[in-house]
Amino acid sequence: MTHTVDLSSATELSGLTGEYSAHNYHPLPVVVASAEGSWVTAVGGQRYLDMLAGYSALNFGHRHPRLIAAATRQLGRATLVSRAFDHDQFGPFCAELAGLCGMEMVLPMNTGAEAVETAIKVARKWGYTTHGVPHDEAVIVVFDGNFHGRTTTIVSFSSDPDAKDDFGPYTPGFVSVPYGDLAALTAAFDAHRDRIVAVLVEPIQGEAGVVVPPPGFLAGVRSLCSGARALMIADEIQSGLGRVGTTFACEAEGVVPDAYLLGKALGGGIIPVSAMVSSRAVLGVLKPGQHGSTFGGNPLACAVAREVIAMLRTGEYQERSARLGTRMHEALGGLPPSVVSSVTGRGLWAGVTFAALDGRAVCERLAALGVLAKETHGSTIRLAPPLVIEEDDLSWGLARFTDAVLSA
Ligand SMILES: *Cc1c(COP(=O)(O)O)cnc(C)c1O
Repeated sequence: MTHTVDLSSATELSGLTGEYSAHNYHPLPVVVASAEGSWVTAVGGQRYLDMLAGYSALNFGHRHPRLIAAATRQLGRATLVSRAFDHDQFGPFCAELAGLCGMEMVLPMNTGAEAVETAIKVARKWGYTTHGVPHDEAVIVVFDGNFHGRTTTIVSFSSDPDAKDDFGPYTPGFVSVPYGDLAALTAAFDAHRDRIVAVLVEPIQGEAGVVVPPPGFLAGVRSLCSGARALMIADEIQSGLGRVGTTFACEAEGVVPDAYLLGKALGGGIIPVSAMVSSRAVLGVLKPGQHGSTFGGNPLACAVAREVIAMLRTGEYQERSARLGTRMHEALGGLPPSVVSSVTGRGLWAGVTFAALDGRAVCERLAALGVLAKETHGSTIRLAPPLVIEEDDLSWGLARFTDAVLSA
């Protein structure tokens, strides 16, 4: 198959995007036409190695054959039922996801933000109905630098002015403390002990720049929550499902939270699927009519997610992430400290912070060299290649990365 280079067409498409879509993103100048595995092909035929992987929604790469087959099978059977009726993918999906998580119950939604909203509602209701928290006084502790989504309630406890400013009035009931700071968390528990229903934590902060907390932090959160009978809610929407070399990032410290929030990769890069996964005692507080979603747990979503779960059960993707992630971190760690001031992360997930370079400028240079990545903040780039990436492709991408930062 030959590609004809037709830049005018890509330019025209970008023009339409610029004119008719809201400018809530600032995309790199690449217009994707098709994709397979770790590679995307742009309008005009240029190929790029995808080292962002849809912010981890594409852990299994683009159009993984097993996932496409599962989706196609389900497209021929039933796609949407609504939760007014049960369907034959729903119970098995919930049972299999609970099994993967070592938990008892699942509440499926669509986007990550909806899973977070679900957890906020469930934690509050749990606090009022089983924990004696005075009505409408529940406190949920969150961390500075958090990213949990874009709804009005979630941005109410963001510390990013872009995410938050001008979107008030803000939802009350959240206290934010510095990430990784157990003393500050302990102080928050002392100040609000009888009203804290949950701590909402990213085991590694993705959007903040792939920030790994100090050793002992997650275990400390676990023990403070247990001591105060508050729920430890792990937002593993970006860190979970193989990204860090284990199924969950909490595993690094042997920590089991009271609830996992999952999204992104759960939908196999095909359809939005998110979930809160927890115990009967916690999710059991919801009764019919108290929460829901028209699309949550639909047959197509469940069929794709069941295949994702089956793939994760093999352990193959976690193992690849751990093995290739070690190589990636070794290569990035070899860059001169005068250019790269820090490399953080775990598995096939890295936050690379530059001493002086601008992240956006490096991403533009990378794109020109055939690699897609995205800055998180001014001088930090996140690398999160698909877990299916071939070893040779990873080496090639890292060599281009070196070229891009050293030639700057
Ligand atoms: C992406 C993300 C979310 C929000 O997910 P959406 O599907 O974009 O709503 C929540 N939490 C974390 C940690 C995320 O990375």
